[in-house]
Amino acid sequence: MQYEFTIQVPPEVAAHQEKLKIGVAKKNGIPIDEIRHIQILKRSIDARQRAIKINLKIKVFVQEDFTDQPIKLPDYPNVSSASEVVIIGAGPAGLFAALRCIELGYKPIVLERGKDVRNRRRDLKAINRDHIVNEDSNYCFGEGGAGTYSDGKLYTRSKKRGDVQRILELLVGFGATDQILVEAHPHIGTNKLPGIIAAIREKIIETGGEIHFETRVIDLIIKNSEINGVTLHNKSTIATNKVILATGHSARDIFELLYQKKIEIEAKPFALGVRVEHSQQLIDQIQYKCDIRSPYLPPSPYSIVKQVDGRGIYSFCMCPGGVIAPCATSPGEVVTNGWSPSKRDQPTSNSGIVVELRLEDFKPFEKYGPLSGMHFQKSIEQQAWHIGGETQKVPAQRLVDLVDEKVSTNLPLTSYKPGLTSADMKSVFPEFIHKTLKYGFKEFNKSMKGYLTNEAVVHAPESRTSSPVRIPRDWKTLEHIQIKGLYPCGEGAGYAGGIISAAIDGEKCAEACIKTMKTK
Ligand code: FAD
Repeated sequence: MQYEFTIQVPPEVAAHQEKLKIGVAKKNGIPIDEIRHIQILKRSIDARQRAIKINLKIKVFVQEDFTDQPIKLPDYPNVSSASEVVIIGAGPAGLFAALRCIELGYKPIVLERGKDVRNRRRDLKAINRDHIVNEDSNYCFGEGGAGTYSDGKLYTRSKKRGDVQRILELLVGFGATDQILVEAHPHIGTNKLPGIIAAIREKIIETGGEIHFETRVIDLIIKNSEINGVTLHNKSTIATNKVILATGHSARDIFELLYQKKIEIEAKPFALGVRVEHSQQLIDQIQYKCDIRSPYLPPSPYSIVKQVDGRGIYSFCMCPGGVIAPCATSPGEVVTNGWSPSKRDQPTSNSGIVVELRLEDFKPFEKYGPLSGMHFQKSIEQQAWHIGGETQKVPAQRLVDLVDEKVSTNLPLTSYKPGLTSADMKSVFPEFIHKTLKYGFKEFNKSMKGYLTNEAVVHAPESRTSSPVRIPRDWKTLEHIQIKGLYPCGEGAGYAGGIISAAIDGEKCAEACIKTMKTK
């Protein structure tokens, strides 16, 4: 017999099958020797009280053995001679669009400007060590897209976006731990993601799909408001009337191209701010209300939202036990973001702390029309580059000094490898952003006592939170509102924010595109 329960237990009980059996037997009046196994279906941490509890949804096997049923991938058919769909970009949106095409019997041709996961690493080293930014291969561009060298958080704020469970199961099928199906806030980690991405690529190739690396699309060929093909960096062309455009939020050249070609795009509000680093121990102390974290608890994340004069300021993409990374995609700019290994075992934690932006904030850049937000974003990244010393060093300030409006006389070492330049954040950001950060951090300290500490350091800017542009599409067909056969997809088009939602949108675009096609 199998029974499902929800139960709240101390962390050390949740971590041990035998202790859990004792607790479940006692609470539910089941003789302990009849419990053969307890399967954990969902796990979340309740850290609101000093005595931290783990919420578990469990399946109890009573007088019945448990057999593990590994997650299986769909039966992907061979599509080598099937009708083709061109997909631009091998981020989560592009890769999951490709997999869905194959599942439905169509052949994806994926065009990716960056390199495969292995070769991409060299370019990441070059940014960190030599301050060299390769415009096609960096933390945002390359196989797996912006999510490959990340914390790999796998949750989406909006459950309405689609079938999250399906994407998680596919990730498990391609090699992610099955614990991502259990955790309320799952993550994969930067050391595991490249292997999963490589397994997806191998499946695409094995089934007859194509992936072309170091292949940048520089033009869209359009005739009579219908896509006819794409032009590549070497001026060769691919004829096609089905293109999924999944180029991400950092492909500024694609936004420029669409604007020049008078293909409709819109400015979109986004958020921008800094990345703040604390010691993980301090965050654990604040969140778990303890001196030393229990060995049964993971390094703690945090999530915080406040308002300053009616403007939102919030934590974004928090990485417990993680590292701040240089995420510029062009020379002459600096950008930060964060990653963590699967164990989240680095001594520092970091989080984007970003200020909500509105369309009216982009007014000084209105001459750029729908690209005004993008130019606003770019101007701050370039300003930070100048102030940082025109390398990949970033302007940095102790958190307390930011609030007290003092330049830091010295800075501690942080996880950000290219280095720091002491600077006043007032010189990096427009006044309204600086003010919101200053008062926002004071508010944070009211909810998270100890957060506002001299040891914490802000790094500027965190500016690629979501796309500054939306590429409008028909809500039903998902085609661009003017161009037949063009499917704006994923984060860059403004329809996703994060790995999971981008993957979901990739699948949706593939389905919508295929609906209009005939099998060969
Ligand atoms: P992208 O991942 O941006 O992929 C777009 C792809 O298109 C890129 O590979 C790019 O090289 C390619 N491309 C661009 N232009 C062209 C062109 N002209 N021709 C050919 N190819 C082109 N999200 C989470 O959910 N959890 C996290 O923990 C997380 N951490 C992050 C950490 C870092 C360091 C970064 C940078 C991002 C992180 N994100 C995280 C965000 C997440 O990675 C993105 O939301 C997601 O990757 C968006 O997917 P996408 O496929 O829409 O676009």
